[in-house]
Amino acid sequence: MSWDQKNVPHKGWICDFVTDLGTPDGRCAMCGREEIRFVHHMSHEDYPEGLDVGCVCAEKMEDDYVTPRRREQDLRNVAARRKRWLLRKWKISQAGNPYLKTDGFHIVIFKQGDDSWGGKLTEVETGFSVTNKRRYRNADEAKLGAFDGMIFLKNKRSASTAGSTR
Ligand SMILES: [Zn+2]
Repeated sequence: MSWDQKNVPHKGWICDFVTDLGTPDGRCAMCGREEIRFVHHMSHEDYPEGLDVGCVCAEKMEDDYVTPRRREQDLRNVAARRKRWLLRKWKISQAGNPYLKTDGFHIVIFKQGDDSWGGKLTEVETGFSVTNKRRYRNADEAKLGAFDGMIFLKNKRSASTAGSTR
């Protein structure tokens, strides 16, 4: 295992991002433990290849016993929310399109010329908007696409906020 290899640093790692595999079938590259659902993608200036590891090793590598668990919990919350997302009550705009206001965003989905569905996110505070150019087969898929887009934008925003306070 990598913990025993001389060229692998033990401390000073940074987590770039975490992936939720959805099911526990990942493997920790540091200790070899299997059945990992959340993969922490770790990087180190003295180890350019990086390592994909589980939470327990991420804690040791970062020397931080709070943040790695919180990252996993954030992803768990997102996964649970995504499951409930389609059950929310979407309103209908004057143009006849389903829309939702949440998390500081105005989200609308609409039918496109070729019968596919698209979506648009607008940040209420700034007016910044993103139109999803993908073509979804139905309204539910477009709603889930909008959810993923919203989470992406929220993460980007919180990452830039965290960066500026460093
Ligand atoms: Zn491990």
